[in-house]
Amino acid sequence: MSTHDAWALVCRLFSLGTPVLRAALSPREIAALPALGQAVKSTVPDLRFVLCPYCHQQRAQVWGDGQRGHTCHCPECGPVPLVPQDTAAIRLDEDWLRRKLRLALSIESRDGIDDLGDGVWRLGDARRSPVLLARDLMRVLQEPALLDRVRVAGGDIRVITPKPRKTRGAPFGAGVEWLALEERFTFYGGGIAFIGATGEPPAPQAGDPTMPVHGPFSADFKWVTLPDWPHGPIRLTNAQAAVFKALWSFKGEPRTAEQVMQRARLDSAKPIDVFKVKARDRGKPQAEGPRWAYRALVVTQQRAGLYSMPCAAASSLAAA
Ligand SMILES: [Zn+2]
Repeated sequence: MSTHDAWALVCRLFSLGTPVLRAALSPREIAALPALGQAVKSTVPDLRFVLCPYCHQQRAQVWGDGQRGHTCHCPECGPVPLVPQDTAAIRLDEDWLRRKLRLALSIESRDGIDDLGDGVWRLGDARRSPVLLARDLMRVLQEPALLDRVRVAGGDIRVITPKPRKTRGAPFGAGVEWLALEERFTFYGGGIAFIGATGEPPAPQAGDPTMPVHGPFSADFKWVTLPDWPHGPIRLTNAQAAVFKALWSFKGEPRTAEQVMQRARLDSAKPIDVFKVKARDRGKPQAEGPRWAYRALVVTQQRAGLYSMPCAAASSLAAA
């Protein structure tokens, strides 16, 4: 999975503005889901029509069978009974998108987000220029009054929208800058980064070693990014990375300390041993971070002596 796939899925979901059936996602999109974390939620879609689970070609009407079951009436395949996976859907957490776009553009938090209706929001002011987010570029082009509502003296307006199929050059005249969601922003470390024009801070490199790849972990498991930890990506020692990698490989299934440590090729008796913080390092974020991550991610069944990491299960389900 690449960050590019994750961001492309965010953009597609925002552009659609409706829940999407899991069955209708591409394998690359399914693979990108775990990295998106809280940005994407499970949901129940409109159950009157689903993608036929047999042919995956037709959207067909759903009938209840009178016994709490449902049947898809596909014009090609005939009646097909539905199982819960057929109707599982995801949606973008659009509050997340708007919040993270504000952060990416350093929009001050004291002015809130205004919903201007029909898929247009005023995100706030970035360096005294109002920023609009719209689901559809055409909507803003067709209703210039929207821009007049937010215009301020001496500040350009920035308009963020998904990129339409066909656009050439700048769709707006002077005083309005258009930022294509797909091109000027990217998914980064659980949030959104702005890809500035020259002279502005560059976006994080695509080869950033901290980038979450396996759930919250980087490709080599030496970094973990957790939204509730305020000090950025957490750097792990080789031993800590080996423990997390081992737990990840068990896909959320509980294992004994011995099994975990054997898989990690470590001599310590228990996983927690390599996360202990020395007395002189107490209170230092770089030392406390790994233990904090361990407590946030690893579930210990004390009595049975079993260890598991639930986020690895969620991820293997999404990839199945
Ligand atoms: Zn069918």
